[in-house]
Amino acid sequence: MYEDRPDPKLASGQAVLRVKACALNHIDIWIRQGIPAYKIQLPHISGTDASGVVEAVAPNVTDVAPGQRVFVNPGLSCGRCVECRAGRDNLCSTFGVFGAACDGGYAERTLVPARSLIPLPDDLSFEVGAAFPLVYLTAWRLVVTLGQVQPGETVLVHAAGSGVGSAAIQIARLAGARVITTVGSETKRDRALAMGVDDVILYKREDVAEQVRALTGGRGADVVVEHTGPETWPSSLAALAKGGRLVTCGATTGPQVSLDLRSLFSRQLTIRGSYLGNRSELEAVTRLVAAGRLAPIIDSIYPLAEARKAQEVMLSRNFFGKLVLRV
Ligand SMILES: [Zn+2]
Repeated sequence: MYEDRPDPKLASGQAVLRVKACALNHIDIWIRQGIPAYKIQLPHISGTDASGVVEAVAPNVTDVAPGQRVFVNPGLSCGRCVECRAGRDNLCSTFGVFGAACDGGYAERTLVPARSLIPLPDDLSFEVGAAFPLVYLTAWRLVVTLGQVQPGETVLVHAAGSGVGSAAIQIARLAGARVITTVGSETKRDRALAMGVDDVILYKREDVAEQVRALTGGRGADVVVEHTGPETWPSSLAALAKGGRLVTCGATTGPQVSLDLRSLFSRQLTIRGSYLGNRSELEAVTRLVAAGRLAPIIDSIYPLAEARKAQEVMLSRNFFGKLVLRV
């Protein structure tokens, strides 16, 4: 629903963000569908990836100042507990996601904890500042921190056209890996090849695990970046080399998968779950985006009033990269 809401009221430690752009993520869809993992209070404003200009700050705020160009760190944490102080803020017991745990960026103005605002590098547009944080942070943690991808390794990334998929491809290439990806159409295959991917598998007509084996001399992939769930899970496991690592952060096709323990231990596989990432990982990807080494792919930009249409496009899978709302 597109309607007027009262302007947000400043509270201690908070800033009012005049939103300029907000990217879509799957979490927006889950919230709208009422998935119990996200307990929201209605009326709720979605939007996890927001960028804009600081409009006002509470008197005790020194992190940011009015007029500053910023983007939102999508991970919210307490900033005080043992995990937060150790820099592992995504392990904080209060960890939540901006736009889920509170109102988000599908708005002209939104309230953000001032600590969660990060300066937007001068050369980056608001649209890019909204397009990269959640997916590049997620993909960085999957590929670099947990997947520990090494130069020369083979990485299978599912769904090149998705936000996390396209980010993981760029990061895995930056790490020096050979990248194999999957797509659902010929058009997306061409887009993936243009990104420098080594091999593309059309998952609707080819057996993904078989193809990965054929492309690696029977060995399989060292790392699989999994973010879709039951639709891809069996082929993800089957595509792994002995000793391979599967990293996962998503369940866009459902929450339940099966696992043959005998295969897990005899092939010595590692499965690691991941949820967003921490502040230092976000700052690492921000530096690389600012330097042009990572470049979010923006499929299309919609006015805020067309948020519904943008979510329909996301559900259709008929896009490549990020969908962004301009406010
Ligand atoms: Zn904490």
